[in-house]
Amino acid sequence: VTQSSTILVTGGAGFIGANFVLEAVRRGHRIVNLDKLTYAGNPNNLKSLEGNDQHLLVQGDIGDAELVTRLLAEHRVGAVVNFAAESHVDRSIDGPAAFIETNVNGTFNLLDRSLHYWRTLDEDARTRFRFLHVSTDEVYGSLGPEGLFTEETPYAPNSPYSASKAASDHLVRAYHHTYGMPCVTTNCSNNYGPLQFPEKLIPVIILKALRGESIPVYGDGSNVRDWLYVVDHCEAIMTVLEQGRVGETYNVGGNNEKTNLEVVKYICALLDELRPSGQAYAELITFVKDRPGHDRRYAIDAGKIKRELDWSPKETFETGMRKTVQWYLDNMAWCENILSGDYRLERLGLESE
Ligand code: NAD
Repeated sequence: VTQSSTILVTGGAGFIGANFVLEAVRRGHRIVNLDKLTYAGNPNNLKSLEGNDQHLLVQGDIGDAELVTRLLAEHRVGAVVNFAAESHVDRSIDGPAAFIETNVNGTFNLLDRSLHYWRTLDEDARTRFRFLHVSTDEVYGSLGPEGLFTEETPYAPNSPYSASKAASDHLVRAYHHTYGMPCVTTNCSNNYGPLQFPEKLIPVIILKALRGESIPVYGDGSNVRDWLYVVDHCEAIMTVLEQGRVGETYNVGGNNEKTNLEVVKYICALLDELRPSGQAYAELITFVKDRPGHDRRYAIDAGKIKRELDWSPKETFETGMRKTVQWYLDNMAWCENILSGDYRLERLGLESE
């Protein structure tokens, strides 16, 4: 991937994808952004790119063979970065079908169309081409109190979401091994930061606290996750895109293992400092019935990406969380726009396929 190459980003109107698109454009890449604009896709995330001809947002489905074929050829794409997915574990429990459709069948279509396109390229372009698939550490299942997920940890997904992501990871692996297509996969831990849709833990905590509503914590709050600041994650993806070895997978983590209760309490303490309300926000914490099949602990060994590509996260949990809470405080209009549903109306005027 050279700086001048066009990247087909899928799901680039979502949380991580939008952060990635903003960073990639800043670095001089041209982005074709294919996004279905499901409930999770929000063009407002890319408002700062309006009128910038380095970015084209196309509303469409990664499962649409004709559209993907056309975009790849028309824009002479040099790399595909696949963020598009149904991403919320709770939704996968209530309705798994959409997860299979997009995460499995959609990724298959994207791979299949990319392979056909890749085969039409000259040798030089074929060597430089990359298909980067963004995945999760949840494919590895749940850890006990000790140990870390490495790239060698056997897959053991437990939710319909992680099972669908695991299936897509295997397809990506197969397209490299069977057809020689230059694929790489990244498996990362829980992201947090600007632009995260307000159904996920961190924005839920912040918004509930600010509204004086009870802050729900699953079970006893002792489930452990590793937290990765989204901008660090995007830099890791860019690093793998530019320097990663094809056919490899890289785990990306933040070196920030925390229980959910620690996370909630930390955010409450930050809010006490940044937006004092006369009452400690932690008093709003309420324990709710645990999620079925809730994995106990995820933790990532990000040693390989550090050793091979010299990437490690810049933010600590404390610095990243402070930036995040401040971002939500400064961008309440963005949140209100989503919570009221207005952001859907603003989709008019896009290129619609
Ligand atoms: P998100 O839900 O915020 O965004 C997903 C985007 O994909 C949305 O813009 C949506 O409109 C789009 N999309 C959904 N179905 C589509 C389809 N069929 N065709 C085209 N676009 C479609 O998700 P996110 O949190 O930004 O996650 C991005 C990727 O990173 C996902 O693949 C997810 O599995 C992975 N991931 C996320 C996390 C995390 O903590 N958020 C952690 C590990 C891995």
